[in-house]
Amino acid sequence: MFPHLKYSEADVDGYISGVAPEMVEASLAKERHDWFDLLNLISGAARPFVPEMRRLAQTVRRRYYGKTVSVYAPLYIGNTCINSCRYCDFRRQHTGTVRRNLTLDEIRAEAEAIHKTGIDSLLVVAGEDPKVNTVAHLAEVGRLLKTIFSYLALEVAPQSEDGYRELFAAGFEGLTCFQETYDQTLYREMHPAGPKADYEWRLNTQLRAGRAGFRILGCAFLLGLGPWRREAASLAAHAFYLMKECYEAKVQFAFPRICRVDGGFVPPCEVNDEELEQMMLAFRIVFPQCCMTVSTREAPAFRDRIVQTAADNMSAGSRVTPGGYAVLEKARAADVAQFTLSDSRSPTEVFAAIRANGQEVVFKNWDNRI
Ligand code: SF4
Repeated sequence: MFPHLKYSEADVDGYISGVAPEMVEASLAKERHDWFDLLNLISGAARPFVPEMRRLAQTVRRRYYGKTVSVYAPLYIGNTCINSCRYCDFRRQHTGTVRRNLTLDEIRAEAEAIHKTGIDSLLVVAGEDPKVNTVAHLAEVGRLLKTIFSYLALEVAPQSEDGYRELFAAGFEGLTCFQETYDQTLYREMHPAGPKADYEWRLNTQLRAGRAGFRILGCAFLLGLGPWRREAASLAAHAFYLMKECYEAKVQFAFPRICRVDGGFVPPCEVNDEELEQMMLAFRIVFPQCCMTVSTREAPAFRDRIVQTAADNMSAGSRVTPGGYAVLEKARAADVAQFTLSDSRSPTEVFAAIRANGQEVVFKNWDNRI
């Protein structure tokens, strides 16, 4: 845990449980923050300070992002996967999932359906299938989508630095890779087979992408697998390291939460709304310049509130099955998605909610003219 730091779980647990209210006040009063400030702000002692954290986070957020909220949509291009992640219905052993990889024509149809809503930033998602999603294929997808969208990000299997260089040249500028858990023992348990079992290879994904030129480096853990405070401390350590090593790129945080569904994976360490909000506020205060996204895993009320204080970026109208926007319009209900959506509003409804809160929707905040 705690990448590139020499602390043990016991050290960090002991520190966090020993945080006193004066330490939280001191962290809130500082202009520049370090890793220990993050620990102070996620501690139990910081709970009574959440209203103050909300005010401070909102001020900081406004300073860096104004009253704007950027919007994006995920495009699932395939769900075949050779991994065995215990929490995911795309895992190779799961027979209830209809497997599909979209053709280039289908990808174009999906992309056009998304773009019609006004969204101009796209996250391309696929399961890990090295026979299908080769670097050459992903690069072809990137070149196609770059004719439609201003900004492309990628959430696929970790690639080599050379692979990322090729993908960057094809038009991808952002990368998302969830570490899932920073706890090596739990990581082995959750990823018993397949290439994803390699913890270090995954941990260094953002570093390789950053060295290859990627502009946005998305990091996260999966909320619900391990104790959230330890995982958050690890995420922060990872982010500080990347900010030093890849200073030309921007770190982006996500806080994907496993939603419990009947008959589905039972998260061993569930995170409630109050804990999630405290964590997001703490990250906004300690990492004021970093991007932060909130997906449709969260309910509308939570999303609409958190984009005013912490997150600067949100997905809208997401479909999490390959073909879910246009190709499979009629079959969608029978399909298995990667995770359950809690916000099923249309993009138009999401944009209206953002504006109703006095914020401006940003469809395009980057255009690489090179
Ligand atoms: S989480 Fe990703 S790698 Fe794991 S089974 Fe699901 S799609 Fe495959």
